Amino acid sequence: MTAIAGIGIDAGSTTCKAVAVDPSGAVVATALEQALPRIADQTAAMLDGLRSAHDVAPGARCVATGYGRRLVECADRRVTEITCHARGVFDDLGRAGTLVDIGGQDSKVIRIGPDGRPADFVMNDKCAAGTGRFLEYTAGRLGLDVADLGGRVAAPGSEEQITSTCTVFAESEIISLLARGAEVDAILKGLHRSLTVRLVAMVRTVGWEPPLMMSGGVARNAGVRAMIGEALDTEVIVPEHPQLTGAHGAALLALEG
Ligand code: ADP
Repeated sequence: MTAIAGIGIDAGSTTCKAVAVDPSGAVVATALEQALPRIADQTAAMLDGLRSAHDVAPGARCVATGYGRRLVECADRRVTEITCHARGVFDDLGRAGTLVDIGGQDSKVIRIGPDGRPADFVMNDKCAAGTGRFLEYTAGRLGLDVADLGGRVAAPGSEEQITSTCTVFAESEIISLLARGAEVDAILKGLHRSLTVRLVAMVRTVGWEPPLMMSGGVARNAGVRAMIGEALDTEVIVPEHPQLTGAHGAALLALEG
């Protein structure tokens, strides 16, 4: 069994992720859990789990990233999500370009340079409307699981217009639309469009260069992927496990000390 040489922990607002890599950077193990309030305890337990299930090379280090990174007491170093996502996606896909990272509580667009480092970025962490939380909240209002939204939105069909720019007002709009007999899938398309419009504006602000890549939990949503690609008239490239991109980048940075 290959020994772990670097561990990345991404303590996010919604999920807590860990990726362990061997000395060559190949992934040895991963973990993904719903985030718990006690970040220090949760991340220590994840690290213990990886260490007890795998050989760990002497001197292996741990880098923490994510919104809760300062609370990851078991980490040797802390690095911003922007740097970690850029590094993770650059390693996965091997090229410069523009990365859209949509997590549970914030969204970022990062222009990645030819060396895999962020050249520029824009971030929305002030408003839930451009984040995964918007989809979770509105899906909950419709009695749906967030994992089922993308398939329904990517299927052909009509679309309702959601005009509110705020999550709370969007909820009132959903209630009115349902009362008027609107179809759930048409409302879902409108909600995804509303999130996409915000993200596309951010992509344009950063002065994007192709290829366009996506990471974060919302990259798992086929509806968001399709709408962003359509709005920018480009293919959207997504790593195999986009929700682990930040932790993967952190693990690769851990190999560097
Ligand atoms: P954070 O790093 O802030 O904790 P994540 O990158 O884990 O956030 O993303 C969480 C978001 O990902 C959720 O709010 C949800 O919208 C979306 N998501 C999570 N799982 C899925 C899934 N299976 N399919 C589609 N979207 C998902």
